[in-house]
Amino acid sequence: MSAKILYGKEFAAKIKESARLEVDDLKNNFGVTPGLAVIIVGENPASQVYVRNKHKTCEELGIKSEVIAMPATSTKEDLLSKIDELNAADDIHGILVQLPLPDAIKAHSEEILNRIDPLKDVDGFHPVNVGKLVTGSPALVPCTPAGCLEMLDLADIDGKRAVIIGRSNIVGKPMLHLLMARHATVTVCHSHTKNLADVTREAEILVAAMGKPKFVTADMIRQGAVVVDVGINRIEPKKLVGDVDFDAAVEVASAITPVPGGVGLLTVAMLMKNVVKATKLQLKVKT
Ligand code: NDP
Repeated sequence: MSAKILYGKEFAAKIKESARLEVDDLKNNFGVTPGLAVIIVGENPASQVYVRNKHKTCEELGIKSEVIAMPATSTKEDLLSKIDELNAADDIHGILVQLPLPDAIKAHSEEILNRIDPLKDVDGFHPVNVGKLVTGSPALVPCTPAGCLEMLDLADIDGKRAVIIGRSNIVGKPMLHLLMARHATVTVCHSHTKNLADVTREAEILVAAMGKPKFVTADMIRQGAVVVDVGINRIEPKKLVGDVDFDAAVEVASAITPVPGGVGLLTVAMLMKNVVKATKLQLKVKT
């Protein structure tokens, strides 16, 4: 058996198209153009690529995009006052600080992110949004796990026994709550989990988000499982692999996301949905 390949491009296109329709609706029926501000500090080349990609996608969908490039020498206070300004700006509905911050201010990342108005927190990292996700209120949810869920919905995948490898705040933990809200029974594994393979073999939906190249081997996957590989690992200057040994897993799974070309593409698409959602939450329009 060879699994169905869940290509991110196909799902990202659907998510972006749905965001574009919502943007048009906000413009036509409310006279509002959703606006995203991305703050980038310093000159990290990978961050510059990510920010350019976000800007380009906003332009494609008719979202106003403002990139605020601040020097690497910026202080915590510089960032806090820029965020205050954006929190108060009527034409900005989403604010994102591109991580990682330069070493000199890295230790203040949490304080800086928590300064963003929760209604404009399109990364979904603010404790208010985390709390809302846990309690099941309308929230801005981190883009990567939200994108994975959107993909499962679009692909009509309905596994009720789910296992997540990884418990980070940006992937594993939000994924737990999203899958649980979808009535899955979910186990979250981490580096202290004993007999990992025994747990992962229970999964109808297996999410790998650990950051360990090709760690998940075929014998860890239940026959016919759906495997969502969130991992992005650079093993050679130009070679990316996921957390799953794709070539072996494809023979056991019923569906699997590739790396590259899988989950990574959903994240930016979902950011666009979050900008729209943030705009609607601020306008008190049903999301
Ligand atoms: P973190 O490093 O924050 O978390 C990794 C998690 O994996 C931790 O909970 C850790 O456990 C767990 N883990 C590590 N080793 C093992 C092991 N041997 N067995 C079981 N669990 C283990 O990573 P992130 O969540 O930020 O990212 C995970 C991966 O997803 C990375 O490859 C990252 O690049 C990728 N990623 C991709 C995105 C995208 O597609 N756009 C976005 C975000 C991330 P413990 O808590 O015990 O340390």
